[in-house]
Amino acid sequence: MVITIDGPAGAGKTTVSRGLADRLGYRYIDTGALYRGVALAARKKRIATDDDIGLEALCRDLRLRFIRNADGCRLYDGDDDIEDQIRTPEMSMLASAISARSVVRRFLLDVQRQFGREKGAVFEGRDMGTVVFPDADLKFFLEAPLEVRARRRHRELNGRSDQSLDGVLKDMQRRDHNDQTRVLAPLKPAADAVVINSENLTADAVVERMMMEIKMLEAKLRNHGSTEGS
Ligand code: C5P
Repeated sequence: MVITIDGPAGAGKTTVSRGLADRLGYRYIDTGALYRGVALAARKKRIATDDDIGLEALCRDLRLRFIRNADGCRLYDGDDDIEDQIRTPEMSMLASAISARSVVRRFLLDVQRQFGREKGAVFEGRDMGTVVFPDADLKFFLEAPLEVRARRRHRELNGRSDQSLDGVLKDMQRRDHNDQTRVLAPLKPAADAVVINSENLTADAVVERMMMEIKMLEAKLRNHGSTEGS
């Protein structure tokens, strides 16, 4: 199956996607990391977020790939491990700005679909169920109130950034606004997505809830197969 999990920052997508992929023995692909990878490369080469020609050339030269090691799944550009560099508040905002550009979305659409050619994957992002994999077997949309998400993200950043809780919340609000109001692939639940509010649920409970949906789908497919065969 291809399973998609979309939602805003801090809704719990990463922990849940990893947990679900582990339970199923599937690959897990964090597509936000790819946007962050493009943003980092643009910053290093001093390419402005509205310089479409520069961004197109930059994308052509990028060699983004995930490598799994003892620390989990890390993003590389060629032979360079860029995982730590892409996880800063600055890269969050830059990724959000750059993700509105059609040249970048077009380039990453192909990259993401290549990853999806082998089935057995959980894709996490903003437009996985709406644009990249509209025919996904199962789509989820994770959400939680802004304050809850900001507190989670602030806790996660602990030690890696001195950004205050209020700063995290304001950045998140801006990012939500950018991601939800952009013309291309705006953040929203797919019409056929199962929406889960993670506010009062642990990550394990969300994974359990998703496993229930997967089992229901599997049972439906089995029934369908047996009625077609009879
Ligand atoms: O998920 P993460 O917070 O790492 O994503 C960083 C940014 O990348 C998001 O704020 C969003 O603007 C962009 N993004 C996107 N489409 C995706 C994944 C991420 O536009 N599928």
